[in-house]
Amino acid sequence: MKKSDLTSRQWDILQMYEISDFEDCVRLYPFRYEIIQATDETMLLPNSGITIEGTITSAISTVRYQKNRSVTRFTLCTAYDCYTVTAFNRPWFKAAIEQRATVIGRYEGKGRITASSIIFKPLAQIEGVYPVYPLKEGIRQSDIRKIMQKVLTKHSDQIHDIIPPSMIRKYKLLHRQEALKKLHLPVSQADVNEATRSLKYEEFLRFQMSLHLKGKSMHSVHKVPKSVDRQKIRRFCESLPFRLTADQQMAVTDILDDLASEKPMVRLLQGDVGSGKTIVSAIAMAATADCGYQAAMMAPTEILVSQHVASLKKFFHEQNYNIEGLTSSLSAQEKNRISKGLRDGTVDIVIGTHALFQSGVEFKHLGLVITDEQHRFGVSQRRALIEKGKDVDVLTMSATPIPRTLAAALFADMDVSTITTMPTGRSKVKTVLIEENSMRTILDDLLDAIRDGNQVYVVCPAIEESDALSMRNVTDIYRSLQKVIGSKVRMAMLHGQLSSEEKERIMSGFHQRNIDMLVTTTVIEVGVHVESANIMVIYDAHRFGLSQLHQLRGRIGRGGKQGICYLLSSQSDPDSRARLLTLVESNDGFEIALKDLSLRGPGDLLGKRQSGLPHFILGDIVADQNILLTAKEDAVFIAENQHILEYATFVKMILKSNNDINLAVD
Ligand code: ADP
Ligand code: MG
Repeated sequence: MKKSDLTSRQWDILQMYEISDFEDCVRLYPFRYEIIQATDETMLLPNSGITIEGTITSAISTVRYQKNRSVTRFTLCTAYDCYTVTAFNRPWFKAAIEQRATVIGRYEGKGRITASSIIFKPLAQIEGVYPVYPLKEGIRQSDIRKIMQKVLTKHSDQIHDIIPPSMIRKYKLLHRQEALKKLHLPVSQADVNEATRSLKYEEFLRFQMSLHLKGKSMHSVHKVPKSVDRQKIRRFCESLPFRLTADQQMAVTDILDDLASEKPMVRLLQGDVGSGKTIVSAIAMAATADCGYQAAMMAPTEILVSQHVASLKKFFHEQNYNIEGLTSSLSAQEKNRISKGLRDGTVDIVIGTHALFQSGVEFKHLGLVITDEQHRFGVSQRRALIEKGKDVDVLTMSATPIPRTLAAALFADMDVSTITTMPTGRSKVKTVLIEENSMRTILDDLLDAIRDGNQVYVVCPAIEESDALSMRNVTDIYRSLQKVIGSKVRMAMLHGQLSSEEKERIMSGFHQRNIDMLVTTTVIEVGVHVESANIMVIYDAHRFGLSQLHQLRGRIGRGGKQGICYLLSSQSDPDSRARLLTLVESNDGFEIALKDLSLRGPGDLLGKRQSGLPHFILGDIVADQNILLTAKEDAVFIAENQHILEYATFVKMILKSNNDINLAVD
């Protein structure tokens, strides 16, 4: 794209969007459309949109009130009826009697309209479908529309098909030029539908192809099969205080088969919070250690590391595995001792935070890498660990479970094991929505519960642990709670910026029930297990993703007692309320993850990061599942038929642009 192709203002606008070529330009997609269309007046319903053209038959009356507010009224008559039109804050509005005007707004009932725009043009001239783009400061919708108009008419020869021609024919898709024209310059809703159908398929096919190629390159590696001692594992399972559920059993079988195969394992283990993923991963580590390899597990926080070490030591109290926890807060001496053990092979199982992939850490014979809560780690970090050994199998665990078929389509580069049933004896957390951002109404209940021996988490929004603003929230709330109930309740504050020793000290104080109430950020989100913590209060609940809230409340009600989670939110808009009510009504992590996905609008990067799921611009993972599944099959087919030129061309293009597609977990 050259500067001379556009006006200098248009050029500047594209700079603001960091767009430097036609391709990026046409991929600035509208996020919705505005439809201007004459309303059928015989079918008018109160409180619905209205667009009509008519004649102004009264004088314009404008009344000013307060400082700079005003209300303007006039009568507009169509062939069918006369209406009283009201418009707010347009003191400058003037029109002559008998003048024709088009009014767009809301029909209030009883012949009254509240106008959002009044245009002195025939309706036929403005009728149509208008794309609405994400705007930046000082830019108008019409600016972007004009740019698209220019690019798609004058420079459309620069836009080429991406989808293989046979797929275009098979699904009767639009060619790319035409699809983009209909997306950006639609004449009707049908144009938009046709365009998005084609472009969604393109988006999904590119994603699936890219994933398939990555998966294949991982699977093409060979490793020495591990000689898994299934007898020993069976005996170990029999020694556990509980029986594995059927799903856990199946996951274990999947994993043992993978370890024993000469293909490296690349598997996702997904299951709701509390579904028992830890024991499955423990068995995988035991099986690995049994055949002389080392197993490493990464966890996102130090708290989790020490907790995992403790539960593994409990599981394996009769086995003599050497289990260590490695975090950056250990003394240099301790770190050296563990590093030495990893190098000479005396450490069998290691649990660690990011400290695990520092370059100084070497393994004698690493055979298994497990990552807990996949979305906390990027692909490159995982790869760093995998590359620390020759025969490494990889297991990733996720607590944002989605239905099997969908998971298989979205994580096509991995095999997926899913735990759908919960171990028996876990009671559901009761969730209550409090529609104000204050604990005022529940404080007495909390004090009663604490008197009965329960512990309480108070969670404050912190999107990043280092977010200065959110930190202040924790501090502020802690301080004000101190003032109100500090004399009756033993309180502590926990967040990511405390030193490791401090965090450790507070967490173990909470574990030992020396602390009744923990005011905290989301550092407790994943995995933390304290049995008498039965109550959770979440401030500004609307600022969290649904799956994240579900994770958070998974921390309570773990000791068999009823857990209660209070969601505080002063956000009164119906959408946000409906979202939070999902959690009141459902305890099913699968359902919640899906709801989260279908409610989340495009461009919600926060949601994407929280769920670890891929993000599409046009396609909706839930609503467009069929297209997604079709694209997955087609990607496999294309990979297998690369002797055909059109498929080879497509694969080559994907390999080339593999980096610019927004892949799952980085
Ligand atoms: P998550 O999947 O969230 O990581 P955990 O592995 O922490 O869940 O398991 C939650 C609790 O359930 C733990 O206390 C664990 O010991 C227990 N548990 C796991 N599997 C079973 C089972 N089959 N029967 C009973 N309790 C189980
Ligand atoms: Mg867990």
